[in-house]
Amino acid sequence: MNNLDILKSGGSQLGLDIDDKMAQKFFVFKDLLIEWNKKINLTGITDEKEIIIKHFLDSLTCINTGVFRQDSKVIDVGTGAGFPGVPLKIYYEDLKLTLLDALNKRIKYLMEVCEKINLSNVQFIHGRAEDYGKKEEHRENYDIAVARAVADLSILSEYCLPFVKVNGFFVAQKGPNIDEEISKAKTAIKTLGGKVVNKIEIQLPYSDINHSLVIIQKIKHTPMKYPRKAGTPIKKPLL
Ligand code: SAM
Repeated sequence: MNNLDILKSGGSQLGLDIDDKMAQKFFVFKDLLIEWNKKINLTGITDEKEIIIKHFLDSLTCINTGVFRQDSKVIDVGTGAGFPGVPLKIYYEDLKLTLLDALNKRIKYLMEVCEKINLSNVQFIHGRAEDYGKKEEHRENYDIAVARAVADLSILSEYCLPFVKVNGFFVAQKGPNIDEEISKAKTAIKTLGGKVVNKIEIQLPYSDINHSLVIIQKIKHTPMKYPRKAGTPIKKPLL
């Protein structure tokens, strides 16, 4: 099976229609990821088919949560090499996307990616979630916060929930067997104004990998004392 077939039929297994224009963008993104990964550390996955399955299709599984709209305002916290934010933006071109990461070289690479594949309406932030979640222009300003492979759910909730508007969602992409992590984070999520409303388990196409998507709705404002100062959530996770 060639790369295009994997992308398109993997997409259709997830209920998504990936057209030729999107596929072309995904392939330019893949080439840039491989090229930049030789200079800076972006991903341990270098095989092209694996990039398509484990990065692109995996990122797109977020859409299966049902909370995304064509033009949602979304922040990807700890986006790294652009996951899941960039694939979501390729699929929903009207998305208002903010990519945030603490490492500036990753942000620079993402700027080049978005320019080369003509993604407009993308904001780039080099900084820590704890600092930006306190700023007026970002706090409770997003319909959805997403994050993959950044931190434990309790810590991640303190990074992400401050960005989300009341009634918006925080979608955490997690591995299998997430129930214990969810139950450990329940009090922290409540303290931060959230509520776990759903958990979806998904098998990645063309693999035996199972992932979970935890959907947390913001039901109340986050108290002003959160997020705590940079570094504190990871040192002293909310219990
Ligand atoms: N989300 C990407 C993915 O799934 O491929 C990247 C995952 S990588 C393991 C974690 C990323 O989160 C890194 O790029 C790191 O710089 C960023 N990160 C970790 N803690 C952060 C924080 N407090 N604020 C902003 N970025 C953070």
